[in-house]
Amino acid sequence: MKSSGRRYFLSAGLALGAGWITRPAFADILPRSSGRRVVIVGGGWGGLTAARHLRELAPELEIVLVERNAAFRSLPLSNKWLVGLDRERGLATYADTARSLGCTLISADATAVDRDRRRVITTQGAIDYDWLVLAVGIRYDYTPWFGDDRRAILEARQKYPAGFVADELDQLKQKIADFKGGDFVMTIPPSPYRCPPAPYERAVMIAWMFKQRGIKARLIVVDPGPGMQAFNRVFADRYEDQIVHLTHAAVKSVDPFKKTITTEFDALSFDDGILMPSQQAADLIWQAGLVERGADGAASGWGAVDPVRLHAIDDDRVFLIGDLVGKVSSLFGHYPKSGHLANQLGRIVAREIAGRAQGKLPEPQLPQSVCHVFTDVAPMERVRIDASFRIRGDGVISQTVRQHFDPQPRGEDVEWAESMYADFLKKP
Ligand SMILES: Cc1cc2nc3c(=O)[nH]c(=O)nc-3n(C[C@H](O)[C@H](O)[C@H](O)COP(=O)(O)OP(=O)(O)OC[C@H]3O[C@@H](n4cnc5c(N)ncnc54)[C@H](O)[C@@H]3O)c2cc1C
Repeated sequence: MKSSGRRYFLSAGLALGAGWITRPAFADILPRSSGRRVVIVGGGWGGLTAARHLRELAPELEIVLVERNAAFRSLPLSNKWLVGLDRERGLATYADTARSLGCTLISADATAVDRDRRRVITTQGAIDYDWLVLAVGIRYDYTPWFGDDRRAILEARQKYPAGFVADELDQLKQKIADFKGGDFVMTIPPSPYRCPPAPYERAVMIAWMFKQRGIKARLIVVDPGPGMQAFNRVFADRYEDQIVHLTHAAVKSVDPFKKTITTEFDALSFDDGILMPSQQAADLIWQAGLVERGADGAASGWGAVDPVRLHAIDDDRVFLIGDLVGKVSSLFGHYPKSGHLANQLGRIVAREIAGRAQGKLPEPQLPQSVCHVFTDVAPMERVRIDASFRIRGDGVISQTVRQHFDPQPRGEDVEWAESMYADFLKKP
C-alpha cells in the first residue's frame, strides 16, 4: 500500500512555525546499513516487547529504538508503591535494556514521521526505516475542560497531575504523602482510557492511607460513569467515611486556580487532587496523520489500525501497538488498554514484521489480556480480569471477559509483573 499526500508535519516545538512542508532537510543520525531496518518509537510495554521478539525472530534485521526517557518505569503495580505498600519494580535504564535486547538506542524525542520517504525525524536527526513500529502510548486531552487556555492546562498538569504516565509518579507520591486533610478530588476520565480499574484501585489505596494515618480527609471521586461493581461495594461498605463517589457526574468545567469543579448536578471545591482528563493517542500519531476518523471526518483521537495485522489503515510499512490503538471491533470497540495487552501486541507485530522480512505473511494471531486489581488493602483483596478474543465467522473480533475474585492474594500480581519484565526487560 502506498501512502498518499504530504504527511510531513513539523511540531511547533521543533519548527519556527508549525506547518506542512515537503522537503525536510534533517541530517541522518545512522548510516544506512546493508540490512533492513525496523525503527521502534516508544520503549514502553509494547515497544520493548516488539524489540525483544523481533531480535529473536529476525536476527538479520537492524532494530533501532527511539525513546525520550532515560529509564523505563512501570505503571502496573505503581498504586501499591504510591502508598508505601511495595517497592518500585521493573525500573531499568534504556541504555542497559537496549544493550541486552541487541538494538541501537536513540535517546531522543521523535517529532515527526515522513511516511513518503520512510523517515522518522527526531530531536537528534533523521532515521530511515523499512518498517516502523509506533508504540508511543497516550497523551492527555484537556481541551474539553479548558479549550486552548494554555495557562489552565499548565496549572492542571503541573499542580494536579493525572498520573497515567510514569514521569508523574514521584510528584503524585509526594502529594499524597504531604496531604494534611480536607477534600482530595479525583476525576475519573471518560472512556476509553488506560487501564480502567487503575483510578479506582488508586482511590482505595489513598482512602486506606488517609484512614490509617487518621487524616481528616474526604476523597471525592467524580465519575462520568456508573463506577465498577467490585469497587462500588467497597467504597460504600468499607470507606463510607473516606470516599464520596459521585457517579454519572461528567465534569462540565474545572478551575484549577480557584480549585473548583462543576458537573451537571454538583459544584464542588477541593483542597488538592488528581485531575484526570480525557486521553488520546500520543502526539506522534497525530503528526503522522494516523488518527482514525468517522464518516463525518471527526477524529476519534486514537490510531487507525488494521485490527488483525496491526499495520496503519493506509500504510502497511507502519505498525501501531499498545494503548494508542483505536477501535478494533464493532462489538466491543477498543482492546483493553493494558500493559499485558501492549506486550501481546508487541509479540504479534514482531511476527508480522519478521514474516514480511522473510517473504511470508504469518497466520493471524489475536492477543489476550490479564489484569490484577486490588479492590481493598486491609484485608488485601484482588480481582483477576482475563479477556480473550477470537475472529468470528464474519471477520469481526469478539471478546470474552472473566473475572475471578480472590480474598487471599499471595503475590500473584508481583509474579505476573516479574514474568512480564523477564520478557521485555532482559537483564544485561
Ligand atoms: C496506575 C496504573 C496502573 C496500571 N496497572 C496495570 C496493570 O496492573 N496491568 C496492566 O496490564 N496494565 C496496567 N496499566 C496500563 C499500562 O501501564 C499501559 O497499558 C502500558 O504502559 C501501555 O504500554 P504502551 O507501550 O502502549 O505505552 P507506554 O508504556 O506508555 O510507553 C510509551 C513510551 O513511548 C515513549 N514516547 C512517547 N512519545 C515519544 C516520542 N515522540 N519520542 C520518543 N519516545 C516517545 C514514552 O516515553 C514511553 O516510554 C496501568 C496504568 C496505570 C496508569
